[in-house]
Amino acid sequence: MEYELSVGLEVHAELNTKTKIFCGCENRFGAPPNTLVCPVCMGLPGALPVLSEAVLAQAVRMGHALHCDINRVCRLDRKQYFYPDLPKAYQISQNEIPLCSEGFLELSGDREPVRIRIERIHIEEDAGKLVHAPDGRTLVDYNRCGVPLIEIVTAPDLHAPEQVGWFLEEIRLILRCLGVSDCRMEEGSMRCDVNVSLRPVGAAALGDRCELKNIATISGAVRAAAYEAARQREILQNGGVIERETRRWDDVQNKSLPMRSKEETADYRFFPEPDLGTVVLPEEQVRTLLETLPELPADRRRRLCTQYGVSGYAAAQLTADPARAGYFEQGMAAGLCSGKELANWILGDLLAMRGLEPGEPFIEPERLAALAALTEQGKLSRTAGKTLLAALPSSGLSPGELARKMGLLQENDSAALASIAEKVLRDYPVPVADYRAGKTKALGFLVGKCMAASGGRGNPAVLRRILTEMLDG
Ligand code: ADP
Ligand code: MG
Ligand code: ZN
Repeated sequence: MEYELSVGLEVHAELNTKTKIFCGCENRFGAPPNTLVCPVCMGLPGALPVLSEAVLAQAVRMGHALHCDINRVCRLDRKQYFYPDLPKAYQISQNEIPLCSEGFLELSGDREPVRIRIERIHIEEDAGKLVHAPDGRTLVDYNRCGVPLIEIVTAPDLHAPEQVGWFLEEIRLILRCLGVSDCRMEEGSMRCDVNVSLRPVGAAALGDRCELKNIATISGAVRAAAYEAARQREILQNGGVIERETRRWDDVQNKSLPMRSKEETADYRFFPEPDLGTVVLPEEQVRTLLETLPELPADRRRRLCTQYGVSGYAAAQLTADPARAGYFEQGMAAGLCSGKELANWILGDLLAMRGLEPGEPFIEPERLAALAALTEQGKLSRTAGKTLLAALPSSGLSPGELARKMGLLQENDSAALASIAEKVLRDYPVPVADYRAGKTKALGFLVGKCMAASGGRGNPAVLRRILTEMLDG
């Protein structure tokens, strides 16, 4: 039997607000253990949480970006469970009324567009972190307690592992574009749970699902979905049933392992957080947050294609990093070259020389555009352009001046090239005779001789034209 895969994701992103969600502690990764804590985030008796306005605003912006309804009146709830990384023994989260609900994200670009429904986005606090020391002891660092999180929950609308990857990449781009989260995977600032089920193709109801918990990378999520789909397919094909369970994804072994079954599912005993009142967002603030949203990555990709004539692929590559797209647009503002030519130089050679990374030699976008104009106009060969690019950062000269000084400019002067061509035709009578006898391949040889005679600076296209005219004429 043929099965269809359905995946729903729960994506947790740490917000990069200055302070934590319910206290004034600094929200920062990498500080010495237990130095960013206070009675509130440690859950000491009598300490009272105060909800951060910045957290609300950032979460609402993400909600707008994903076309959600913003629930101007919402609530926080206590989710009780015991674990040593949670000193209060409950997490403040949102259960019944999330801040944002019913949105969607459209995945488009070089592919068939698909719309992934967003069920909800809610705000919550992160827990601390257990550190397993080599001597077998387990230590706990509470710095992460109270770090603000948003959880983005999708409908089970993803039907292939690659779609899981596209979705997560797009979400990460949007979070970064909004400046809501850094999404540094290595710091665990974006993690996700992957819910996977199979159903016979054409069946209306979804199959029973397994949930793979706490996956830290996009590639891990893609592999987890693929692995789990294969595991379930095998069980179903052998007449078995899928146990509804929570599984752990082991990224090193590249497989999922049982964690807890449905019977053991935790009962969190949610109830409204009594220390925080109902959250009420003014309508005006919600509207302002919508109106001040920046251009989203998908819109920017589309605009780069139409405004500058770059390919969909180049637009995606440029937009993959806001700094890169900004660099491109600044270069284009100089009005010197086509978008295609500048994108080529940025995505090929500039990235290869790590030209946009901090601490590396910087080439101003206008100067790269001037270089691109030289290659586009045939004044500089591609190879000479690479030589020029390498010399640009340490030179105060304009690309044109530097190319002249380095003797890199192509010879386009027809008169000069014609005299070279005449000499080459005299010196090589055999290929000339070959060409006239119909062996057109001999032309390439003659162009090569002319190039050599010009010291590599002759424009091959111009030489080819001159030679053809002389030979055919
Ligand atoms: P829970 O409260 O048990 O975590 P939810 O209904 O809130 O379950 O769903 C959590 C996630 O699981 C959502 O992303 C949802 O799309 C996904 N999901 C629910 N049912 C299925 C299913 N049968 N197959 C795949 N994903 C599912
Ligand atoms: Mg869940
Ligand atoms: Zn604190």
